[in-house]
Amino acid sequence: MQYLNNVLENLKAKNSNEPEFLQAVYEVLTTIKPVIEKHPEFQAEALLERITEPERLISFRVPWINDKGEVKVNRGFRVQFNGSIGPYKGGLRFHPSVNQSIMKFLAFEQCFKNALTGLPIGGGKGGSDFDPKGKSDREIMRFCQSFMNELYRHIGQDVDVPAGDIGVGAREIGYLFGQYRKIRNAYEAGVLTGKGLEYGGSLARKEATGYGLIYFMREMLKENNADLKGKTVIISGSGNVAIYACEKAQQYGAKVVALSDSNGSVYDAQGINLEVVKQIKEVERGRIKEYANRVKGSVYTEDTNSRSIWKIKADIALPCATQNEITLEDAKTLVANGVMAVGEGANMPTNLEAIEYFLEKGVLLAPAKAANAGGVATSALEMSQNSMRYSWTFEEVDKKLDDIMSNIFAACSSSAKEYGLGKNYVAGANIAAFDKLSKAMIAQGII
Ligand code: NDP
Repeated sequence: MQYLNNVLENLKAKNSNEPEFLQAVYEVLTTIKPVIEKHPEFQAEALLERITEPERLISFRVPWINDKGEVKVNRGFRVQFNGSIGPYKGGLRFHPSVNQSIMKFLAFEQCFKNALTGLPIGGGKGGSDFDPKGKSDREIMRFCQSFMNELYRHIGQDVDVPAGDIGVGAREIGYLFGQYRKIRNAYEAGVLTGKGLEYGGSLARKEATGYGLIYFMREMLKENNADLKGKTVIISGSGNVAIYACEKAQQYGAKVVALSDSNGSVYDAQGINLEVVKQIKEVERGRIKEYANRVKGSVYTEDTNSRSIWKIKADIALPCATQNEITLEDAKTLVANGVMAVGEGANMPTNLEAIEYFLEKGVLLAPAKAANAGGVATSALEMSQNSMRYSWTFEEVDKKLDDIMSNIFAACSSSAKEYGLGKNYVAGANIAAFDKLSKAMIAQGII
């Protein structure tokens, strides 16, 4: 298709130093090819050119002072990618690997994910190359305050609503919200989500991404005459998404045998003891290595990018750490070991070659922008509760989350069927999201 090829070529030329962004765009645009073929008017509207260019990209200096009194400088970002469905919405990531390419890929993905939720939220993302590891609470606080000193002028409850992501949890959101409130001299609770329960947070937000991933997996397995009960599961990461995916999978009777962090992974043939993990990760902010010291019979392997996890025999693999953690080589090992389903908790954890390999081998693949949308969907529910000045119970939020995830799966499945793509839920998710986003953009004219 000439139009599509031209757009991809131009994007490559214009963004040659942004591999992650190009990867995310390539995955979406190539899978929606049948839709583009059906709509020649997209070319005259320059729809693909517009959908792949952020509405706004902000980059800023974040100076802060460490505990030794030294001045440090980091780079902050906010990418406001597409606001045609609602206020920009997407997390903040604090990690040394953060750069413009990673910010743009995450923001681009977020637009499609948010469209899938069925809720009125546009797509954005932000963060900094700041590394929270090993920093004191006071250092984290000073960094967050300085970050907000610039970010506040670009966000607002009807403008852009950030949340957490890697390296940004309840502690960071608290400091960010405090500084925003002080600058604005107003209690605009809906400006950030992932807040503490004491000041406008939503019950079940912490659990939402991991639980949502498992609700999606449950639906995908159900359509394929399977369920989670008795399945062996491996999960990379041991952060927010990994912990609550593990919890829900265990509640459905699955046996989770492995978790990891950026230094290595633990294998526990008896099934992971999640209380121990929560104590290490949520309370002590420690390393997963510690698990092997506390739980008899478990084994720790030191490595990077969760390499050793994908060698463990399992029915279901849930990459919940970071982008591109499953390569073609890992995919081959997983398939050789009999994996039947992969659920992407992290954003873009499976590289393009590995996705193709899984699909070719008939592995059920739950794509990130659909399967991990439970977090942002519950953030949107937090915004609704803030607007109503009211809170729903845990059960009420969890039920809404379950319904949203079931609806997202149904949309992915029916779009894949409509275009004769069988069980290609990756394409199904992209097509369903693109359908909504493109209609909203076209309705609003050339802006
Ligand atoms: P956290 O910071 O809570 O946890 C991230 C986990 O992944 C940590 O255990 C971290 O280990 C590990 N990790 C990070 N990089 C690597 C690496 N290179 N190799 C191995 N392990 C690594 O983040 P979240 O759980 O919130 O996010 C995880 C993923 O889920 C991200 O891709 C994020 O974008 C995505 N996501 C998160 C949502 C949310 O609601 N939180 C919503 C939707 C998607 P270590 O501590 O050693 O760095």
